[in-house]
Amino acid sequence: MIYLIIIILIFIILFLLLHLIIYYKNLKDIVQYTKDLLNAKYSSRILKKTKGMLANLIENLNALAEKLEEKKSISGGKEELLNIFFEEMKEGFVLTRLSGEIIQANRSIQKIFGEKAFQSGKIIQELIINREFIEFTNKIPDKKIEFMELELPDLGKTFIVSRFYLESQQWFIYLFNDITDAKNLKRIKADFITNLSHELRTPLTAIKGYLEALDDPDLDKVNRERFVKIVRENIERLTNIVSDLLVLSDVERQERKLNIEKIDLNELIQEVISLFRKTAEEKGLYLNFSPVSIPTYSGDRFLIQQLLINLVSNGIRFTEKGGVEVSAKYEKDKFYITVSDTGIGIPSEEIPRIFERFYTVDKARSRTQGGTGLGLSIVKHIVQLHQGEIKVESRLRQGSKFTVILPDLTPTS
Ligand code: ADP
Repeated sequence: MIYLIIIILIFIILFLLLHLIIYYKNLKDIVQYTKDLLNAKYSSRILKKTKGMLANLIENLNALAEKLEEKKSISGGKEELLNIFFEEMKEGFVLTRLSGEIIQANRSIQKIFGEKAFQSGKIIQELIINREFIEFTNKIPDKKIEFMELELPDLGKTFIVSRFYLESQQWFIYLFNDITDAKNLKRIKADFITNLSHELRTPLTAIKGYLEALDDPDLDKVNRERFVKIVRENIERLTNIVSDLLVLSDVERQERKLNIEKIDLNELIQEVISLFRKTAEEKGLYLNFSPVSIPTYSGDRFLIQQLLINLVSNGIRFTEKGGVEVSAKYEKDKFYITVSDTGIGIPSEEIPRIFERFYTVDKARSRTQGGTGLGLSIVKHIVQLHQGEIKVESRLRQGSKFTVILPDLTPTS
């Protein structure tokens, strides 16, 4: 009997011991689990192998880990999103500590100032951009957002720099917004209005002056006829400016749609040449074009005609002996139209400017020949509208050659 009791007791002790071992093992797992959570390893889980209080604790810890994991993935996603946003944005972005030490700078800022300029660890005040910028970065933050206009003549750029102060982190965010184009546009608009006023005032002043002179009853017949001729010429000049301006404003409209149709370039060039045949003959100049076999071009007939008129008219106006030759060819899916003359030529340093509105190499000469200084601006826009390009080769007193290259715009179906 006593043996039986001893055996039962041994069994009970063994059973309790086993439970204790399992309990201890579970407790050890839980301690390791909490360590994982502390180390932000939120994805690990623990299997519920027991019942009772320990099971409740494991259940609660698993629920907590799930929540933490979800939060981590959201904030990780947010961080990634912010990083992509800052890296890809076209504004320059620099993050610094209160001391000015750079924490991060994005790709745009490196593109502007070079890869090494805004390296992390450098001090923003020590990047000698200019005095105003240093003063700006040295300012004690009083408002949350501050601005400055940063002009960098060496780079030919102007920026609006905004500085945001993140009080909670004691960080500064600098944003560099490139406003060069907007500034240039403002200047171009202002220049255009000044030029236009000047261009209109000159003939208007002449008209006013000569009309007053014509009022004189004692004016002799010869002078009267001369003055009337001058008034007429100036009215014609005003008309030319206004009609060129109308064409220019039409081709400059960004949303302007091309009226694409099939054009026989040989026919169109011949048509334009016939408009100038008489003028060329009067000046004793040749005006040649030899038709070639080329495919039909798809483009805006009216605009291509305007382009040709401007180039041929310039060729004749700026040539005193010899003449003008027009040619066309089709090569590697592109149409080439060339207008070359044996005229006065263009000084090489002036070539980049001749496409500007109202720009003329010799103002007096251009005016007496009925020029407005708008013709080549119109040509440039027409070429751009047709996705083409224009090239100029010129030698003083030897002549000029304008080559228009137009891609084949025929829709491929
Ligand atoms: P314009 O009405 O004065 O001809 P454009 O815009 O057509 O205006 O041309 C601008 C300037 O470019 C001209 O005033 C002239 O100085 C120069 N130019 C244009 N075409 C020629 C050419 N074929 N030969 C010499 N100079 C030219």
